[in-house]
Amino acid sequence: MDRAQALVFDHLTPRQRLRFGEGIAAVALADEAAERGAERIMVIAGGSSAAAAAEITRDLAGVALRWDDLAPHVPIEKARAAREAAREHRIDLVVSIGGGSTVGLAKAIAMTERLPIVAIPTTYAGSEATSVWGITERGRKTTGVDEAVLPVTVIADPALSRGLPIRLSVASGLNGIAHCVDALWAPNADPINAAPADVGMHALAGGLARFVDDPTHESGRDEALLGSYLAAVAFASSGSGMHHKICHALGGTYNLPHAETHAIVLPFVVAFNAPMAPDAAGRIARALGGEAVTGARGAGARAGVDAARAATSALSALRDRLGAPMALHDLGFRDEDIPEAASIILPSIPPSNPRAVDRVAIERLLRLAASGGDPAALID
Ligand code: NAD
Repeated sequence: MDRAQALVFDHLTPRQRLRFGEGIAAVALADEAAERGAERIMVIAGGSSAAAAAEITRDLAGVALRWDDLAPHVPIEKARAAREAAREHRIDLVVSIGGGSTVGLAKAIAMTERLPIVAIPTTYAGSEATSVWGITERGRKTTGVDEAVLPVTVIADPALSRGLPIRLSVASGLNGIAHCVDALWAPNADPINAAPADVGMHALAGGLARFVDDPTHESGRDEALLGSYLAAVAFASSGSGMHHKICHALGGTYNLPHAETHAIVLPFVVAFNAPMAPDAAGRIARALGGEAVTGARGAGARAGVDAARAATSALSALRDRLGAPMALHDLGFRDEDIPEAASIILPSIPPSNPRAVDRVAIERLLRLAASGGDPAALID
């Protein structure tokens, strides 16, 4: 929004039902299936969400297929196999119970089979609230937007995220905060998207700080799940900004874990962009509990740098408090990969990014993020 000279925008609010509440998943899902007259349901759940899925769907009528063959970043082979199975079993409703990888596979099915999805999230990735799909083929992740992949209903039950280990919860929550941050400078950033982004950042930061010492903390988990939904609503409408472009390239090409990659890269993108986006920097600092330096538009470079320092330091303080992952090296990313990664990332950076990005800048950012350096080094 910093770049806008005057308040002119064109906003589209997508249609989706959200049913939110502790312990509601099984009953709400049965309700949804009945309301939609679903007779042949495909339930997708894998890994750690399998047990929760079995419990939620135990008495669900019309389950025709259970599917657990999924992997992060939706490899095309897994998408093809799942689509074929959906056709073979004449599926009329896809239910996804799990994190972003699970709903990602459901979206891959909806893309070609035009089937409705009911999504029950168990992480804070937020994919269930977006029309963005992602598929990885021959080491390259492609993302796109298709209204048909937006789940018709999301059933958000905080009880399901309570078992998410703290390490994953923290990374996933920071992935949610990244949605809010990118929503402030992505191509379709507007004041309508900034509102859920502000509240989402605040709720996620507060929720995470509350349950990091006590994983079962009820209101902390509620707040984080609500924050993750708001974050995804903002991101869904704003589109992908510089941060998401970097993380998609790293995740798809080097198979880095999604949430941890977001958690590590975020402060570097904030430090890089914020001097040229003082309004966004002020929002980030305020929402994360830091001291906001209001860099009023036109107040000059000094104000931008001060606002950027406040935002970066609020984010760093939060990451320290949460014990967040710090270095891409720890995820297996190598310095030798930096030139290739920069070549993949550069053409994808939106022209509307608040600060111009060139090869030198992106390589410097990646080097710092790889070694876990000080993000503030990018503020200038
Ligand atoms: P994930 O779905 O891969 O889950 C991470 C791990 O957590 C898995 O091992 C899973 O089994 C486990 N897990 C999930 N819920 C659990 C629970 N409640 N308790 C214990 N373990 C649990 O990871 P993610 O971060 O949720 O999603 C990442 C994927 O989602 C990536 O492919 C990413 O690109 C995609 N994504 C897409 C969008 C979008 O808008 N299209 C948005 C965010 C993420």
